Amino acid sequence: MNIGLTGGIATGKSTVSALLINKGALLVDADVIAREVMLPGHPVLTAVADHFGQAVLLADGTLDRKKLGDIVFHNPSQRQALNDITHPAIRIEIRKQMESLEREHPNRLVVVDIPLLFESGLEHMFERVMVVYAPRVIQLERLMQRNQLNRDEASARIGSQMDIEDKKMKADIVIDNSGDAELTERQIDDFWIQSGYA
Ligand code: ATP
Repeated sequence: MNIGLTGGIATGKSTVSALLINKGALLVDADVIAREVMLPGHPVLTAVADHFGQAVLLADGTLDRKKLGDIVFHNPSQRQALNDITHPAIRIEIRKQMESLEREHPNRLVVVDIPLLFESGLEHMFERVMVVYAPRVIQLERLMQRNQLNRDEASARIGSQMDIEDKKMKADIVIDNSGDAELTERQIDDFWIQSGYA
């Protein structure tokens, strides 16, 4: 079986994916794939440089993330253009890695960690989607603390994503990570048993 794992920024996705891996799940990490397609020599990075100009590359050919970020952050149509270049390649690689793990390990759970799963409309790629939930007030406090942000900065980051309540409603499985670590662990134990892996 495969599941897509998502949540809001700082709601505890990494925490839950670590618990699932600890149980024996196999992980595909969309953030890792997203970084790999931006390495020198990858056709996606070449296409990005063709679109945005060679100025988004540093002297050694690697991506100047700050420069690209400055371009797309304030410009929705350029952000869309970047997504149009990168997302199809990332999606293909996610599917490839997921299917290969499922083929090689048919009795293991394959977890695909995708922070912006719903924002990217990828829910149909997976048998089930698990959302790691914490209400906005807790999300805000954890984000401020983890990233050393003030309230306005943290709110802006949260505000740029789909609302966590909407993600919760779209989920097949909700892990409520608003309590302590033990409560979250218990929900993962239950999920593991109910899914027939224990
Ligand atoms: P992102 O998508 O931004 O990478 P995430 O969803 O993976 O974030 P985590 O990094 O797992 O979130 O958790 C966010 C912060 O909240 C971390 O500092 C983590 O230590 C803390 N945290 C996670 N779960 C809990 C919990 N149950 N109780 C208290 N703090 C928690």
